[in-house]
Amino acid sequence: MSFQSLGLSEALLKAISKKGYTKPSPIQEKAIPPVLEGYDVLASAQTGTGKTAGFTLPLLHLLSENPKEKYKPIRALILTPTRELAAQVYANVREYSEFLNLRSAVIFGGVNQKPQAATIRQGVDILVATPGRLLDLQNQGLLSLKRVEIFVLDEADRMLDMGFLRDIEKVIKSMPEKRQNLMFSATFSKEIKKLAHGILNQPVQVEATPENTTVEAISQKVYRVAKGLKTGLIIKLINDGNWKQVLVFTRTKHGANKLSEKMDKAGITAAAIHGNKSQGARTKALSGFKSGRVRVLVATDIAARGLDIPLLPHVINFELPNVSEDYVHRIGRTGRAGAKGEAISLVSADETTFLRDIEKLIELKLPVEIVEGFEPDPNASTVPVKPGQGRQNRRPQKSKSNKPNNSGGSGEGSRRNSGRNNKSRRPRRSNEGR
Ligand code: ADP
Ligand code: MG
Repeated sequence: MSFQSLGLSEALLKAISKKGYTKPSPIQEKAIPPVLEGYDVLASAQTGTGKTAGFTLPLLHLLSENPKEKYKPIRALILTPTRELAAQVYANVREYSEFLNLRSAVIFGGVNQKPQAATIRQGVDILVATPGRLLDLQNQGLLSLKRVEIFVLDEADRMLDMGFLRDIEKVIKSMPEKRQNLMFSATFSKEIKKLAHGILNQPVQVEATPENTTVEAISQKVYRVAKGLKTGLIIKLINDGNWKQVLVFTRTKHGANKLSEKMDKAGITAAAIHGNKSQGARTKALSGFKSGRVRVLVATDIAARGLDIPLLPHVINFELPNVSEDYVHRIGRTGRAGAKGEAISLVSADETTFLRDIEKLIELKLPVEIVEGFEPDPNASTVPVKPGQGRQNRRPQKSKSNKPNNSGGSGEGSRRNSGRNNKSRRPRRSNEGR
């Protein structure tokens, strides 16, 4: 199967070959034809399988087929859950439409709205937006969706996760009833089907990979290690492997900052990306990482959602996520579009339950290794630690009978204390980004 045989225009084929794609991915092969035929489409495929081009290419084809008007109303709206995703989808739209006479713009919150409003006033065919800023500008009368012909809901599952259902409903009310609807999602839950039912009109349903699986191109590995030795181990792994581009996940924003600072001190250029960072700082960190200036990007789960970092070879879980599905999303950042990738998890005793849950979800037993000098602490408690509790320096030792006994200085002594207080607490998903 080739892009030619999908019936895309010459101008698009030129942009595709400039991008270096030789053949459509499975989801593109399945989704593009029905979109070109004007059907509503519900498409699901794993993260990293090329869904963006799956809707963008046929959308551009359809818009460019119609004669363009002098006054440009917004003819296509692409909604995405996060700012980073919006920026990425927009970059893709720009690349694919290079040889077409179509204008596009992106709007998202966290930055000044004036330039965004000005661009829209000049007329755009395609608008990429996050729900909040879109509704904001619409309420101020700065944009109209009355002429939208094609509506795309990208990363629909994330949209629901992040609580955008209400906003989506509002957006839909402000568009004409007669329009083509496309919904793309990494997973295919009951909630997604329900949402699709409300938005799509007799949709063609396409699916390329089952949910909750991890691609074979990713080799997964666990290093058992004492909690206090994790930073040392991660620095050793990156240095020994001479890894140039590493994405590291931490459970908390504080943890992300701390780790990135320690890496910097060890001579490994690092940047943290999380919900407390300004939009400017996040964009800068991401572009530095993409360009290779920043070697390690330390991210929390929500900040990393949907980030498109092409051909990322290494993902490291500094801590395992307490929500198993997040593991699948995290390691989906490597092995993208058929490239090989490696996903490494540093697991301390208190994360044993998380590891078991993850293995159950992905139906795989992960191979375990131990690095000499970074052995796990045999006395450490296996009781899960609540997110944000890894700040042992801040909590004084509680009783004198519990004097520091771990000569290696791993900090596990204080962890044992806190573990006891935590038995009744269930691990919770953090509320970052909500
Ligand atoms: P998804 O939305 O499914 O998570 P993306 O659309 O972000 O995935 O695409 C993931 C990566 O695959 C991007 O880097 C993109 O440039 C690349 N890609 C998309 N389509 C193709 C293709 N046909 N051939 C090669 N690479 C592709
Ligand atoms: Mg996507």
